[in-house]
Amino acid sequence: MSETLPTIGHWIDGKNVVDSSGKARSQEVFNPATGAAEKRVLLADKETVEAAIASAAKAYPAWRATAPLKRARVMSKLKNLLEMHAEKIAALLTAEHGKVAGDAMGEVQRGIENVEYASYVPELLKGEHTRNVGPGIDAWTEMQPLGVTAGITPFNFPAMVPLWMWPMAIACGNTFVLKPSERDPSSALLITQLALEAGLPPGVLNLVNGDKEAVDTLLDDKRVQALSFVGSTPIAEYIYSRGCANGKRVQALGGAKNHAVVMPDADIDNAVNALMGAAYGSCGERCMAIPIVVAVGDATADAIVAGLKTQIAKMKVGPGTDAKNDMGPLVTKQHFEKVRGYVEIGVKEGATLVVDGRGIKVPGHENGYFLGACLFDNVKPEMVTYKEEIFGPVLGVVRVKSLEEAMKLINDHEYGNGTCIFTRDGEAARYFSDHILVGMVGINVPLPVPVAYHSFGGWKRSLFGDLHAYGPDAVRFYTKKKAITQRWPSAGVREGATFSFPSTK
Ligand code: NAD
Repeated sequence: MSETLPTIGHWIDGKNVVDSSGKARSQEVFNPATGAAEKRVLLADKETVEAAIASAAKAYPAWRATAPLKRARVMSKLKNLLEMHAEKIAALLTAEHGKVAGDAMGEVQRGIENVEYASYVPELLKGEHTRNVGPGIDAWTEMQPLGVTAGITPFNFPAMVPLWMWPMAIACGNTFVLKPSERDPSSALLITQLALEAGLPPGVLNLVNGDKEAVDTLLDDKRVQALSFVGSTPIAEYIYSRGCANGKRVQALGGAKNHAVVMPDADIDNAVNALMGAAYGSCGERCMAIPIVVAVGDATADAIVAGLKTQIAKMKVGPGTDAKNDMGPLVTKQHFEKVRGYVEIGVKEGATLVVDGRGIKVPGHENGYFLGACLFDNVKPEMVTYKEEIFGPVLGVVRVKSLEEAMKLINDHEYGNGTCIFTRDGEAARYFSDHILVGMVGINVPLPVPVAYHSFGGWKRSLFGDLHAYGPDAVRFYTKKKAITQRWPSAGVREGATFSFPSTK
């Protein structure tokens, strides 16, 4: 049966690359709402990835020499094309990732905003200039592109995360090889085709589907100058160390365990509503999701748990294609089983399972990977379910006595991606945002994902590297600075040799 499935190939040198020999490695792509394999995706071997890198290397000199305004115009045109095709892209996200339609449209829109920011690149690349730094001497700093760059992306934002990377890399004058997640590859491929339609010359953007073999080829090939990664922490750490050992510039964004602190003075109803979306939106498969609530005081915890329980009872779980649903399925059977396994661990280690979503039935979708919202109370810091990233619809409440205790928990945690505080006390909020060891902080904002013109990145083991993703940091990451000092002596003027270090004294 699997032979008849449509096959998703690669996009190399402006052409769709399919498996003409019939011998290429591939794997099935499932619809998580039904559990049915609906497509196959090719898994690129070393030679295929090398062909993509060669295409990017060949396209680089002409693309580097293309005026920034012309490069920006491609991004403007792509933005229009993405808006025209937004619903089609969102439908692919629902079909392969499972997220509900409104959530999928939100992802597409946030991706488009990154393309829009990349279209401002002539302004962003202007550099710095000073006249007369010395007698008749001018100096300036340029931001030059790096060459061939590459990106490796996760399953949970299959359209948006690639758009964090290549639009700005390309707008800065680089060429790019993208390796999206093999679990939900179609949206990235469609967007690549739209980018070519928008006017990208062949080879400027290449896409290879694949797994470890493809990634390792990108990591080891000397032609790849810089590599952006988003995914889980063990792989991020691997990518960072192997990529750096091979002399590349690397930014590797990893996993998370984001805590929301609820203070006793918070507006509990608003906090509960905010937590519902942050914990269970996209089935908890967001690196900025909130899987842990730290409630300050037992009265706060009791009110939050009661409010969440009431709201969970109203949640609608089902296929993402039905607009009335709040939450779709988990991405794959393996991930579904892993998340269910964490719920069992939580029960065994003594947390109170207030809501158990494991028994949920979605009529007509019995083979889908649906797990209802789960809520634990009395989660303790030593528990596995507290320490590890679950990446599913499982929210745990930890009870503490003070803001200091809440902050110590967060600061001691291995991850530092996002956090938020719900309070009416400005002083507490200001103290929290100033001293918390986390890269992105929300104050009464549950998902503080920076907009496209601010950069995104966590601290601690949520990010390996120095520069954050997208926004102004993307311009820094995808360019290298060159300082040029220039003098044009008048013809015939002769100066003797000077041996002291030049200065303006
Ligand atoms: P993953 O680490 O399994 O996969 C990410 C990418 O790495 C994929 O393209 C995959 O093909 C590749 N990969 C997987 N195993 C590999 C290996 N052994 N060697 C080389 N490459 C390998 O992550 P995922 O499950 O697709 O995504 C979920 C994870 O991503 C979560 O941990 C989530 O927190 C994280 N994430 C982080 C951010 C962030 O900005 N910090 C954003 C989104 C997702």
